[in-house]
Amino acid sequence: MTEPAVTSSDTPSSVSGNGAAPTRRTKKVLLAAPRGYCAGVDRAVVTVEKALELYGAPVYVRKQIVHNKFVVQTLEKRGAIFVDETDEVPEGATVIFSAHGVAPVVHEEARARSLKTIDATCPLVTKVHREAVRFADDDFDILLIGHEGHEEVEGTAGEAPDHVTLVDGPDDVENVTVRDPEKVVWLSQTTLSVDETMQTVDRLKQKFPLLQAPPSDDICYATQNRQLAVKAMAKDTDLMIVVGSRNSSNSVRLVEVALEHGARAGHLVDFADEIDEAWLAGVATVGLTSGASVPEVLVRDVLAWLAERGYGDVEAVIAAEESLLFSLPNEIRRDLKARGKQAEKVRHDAAFESADSRH
Ligand code: SF4
Repeated sequence: MTEPAVTSSDTPSSVSGNGAAPTRRTKKVLLAAPRGYCAGVDRAVVTVEKALELYGAPVYVRKQIVHNKFVVQTLEKRGAIFVDETDEVPEGATVIFSAHGVAPVVHEEARARSLKTIDATCPLVTKVHREAVRFADDDFDILLIGHEGHEEVEGTAGEAPDHVTLVDGPDDVENVTVRDPEKVVWLSQTTLSVDETMQTVDRLKQKFPLLQAPPSDDICYATQNRQLAVKAMAKDTDLMIVVGSRNSSNSVRLVEVALEHGARAGHLVDFADEIDEAWLAGVATVGLTSGASVPEVLVRDVLAWLAERGYGDVEAVIAAEESLLFSLPNEIRRDLKARGKQAEKVRHDAAFESADSRH
């Protein structure tokens, strides 16, 4: 395969910046940074790997550990069994809760079945759960901005079901009612479009002027940074390719953000071989990024695929630096320690550096 050469700059310099077609038709790739694995995904995936190492296969995982087809397939081959609900897990077995978090009722169900649980909920999702509990304790109506049916939203809403109302985008605001307009707060799913969420908040504020904001950003650093990088390069790209799965909220948002900010076309693909050659017709500059649940090996596959078609020049567009790492869940750290093994903080993308699995 042709190896692409990557150069780096903060802004894409050799293409036009006014939304018009590129003035130079040299084929190139603008590669977003940051992209791919966030700290919460890294932690969740390594949690499953360490559980397999510690307890042996099978290890059960409730829901997809992270929303990525390749990650799930790879872990399945290593002995993970993904289930939808805890009642599919044999009594007394080990079950891992995914990065998206679970409602308290799921913990209760697991206890009733004597399951050993390992909670891989991202600490930034847990933070939103705590906010929900705190505002519910103060008897606020909580307007949770998020996508209906998403696991994270179900988990957060489940912390305070009597206080939470889901608001699924700006157009949903007209349906929202509260008990007391002086005690209302908004919270959000961690993986939303920043811009669309602020539109929703603006409409909510028009309806409820005393609406309170969360104590700190609910949309997480990784979601925000990946969107920032896409915004920085979108107007200069003829085609934006986002590597990610269709059920990955933050990946889907990256395509939307690219199109809203000037990319002339945008597509989401799980794998390089899903790219349609026809998408490249008349394309000089390809933008490339990946969702927060996507291992870098899949981006490298896309870069190689593009290099074979003449897009061998790669320029990094750097919007932010990331260094956040999370510790593994307590249960894993405790059991690693008991076996004399080091429980280091998770290293970015460590789980799939030598991936041997393809669809
Ligand atoms: S996208 Fe954000 S909230 Fe979700 S797992 Fe990653 S860091 Fe955590």
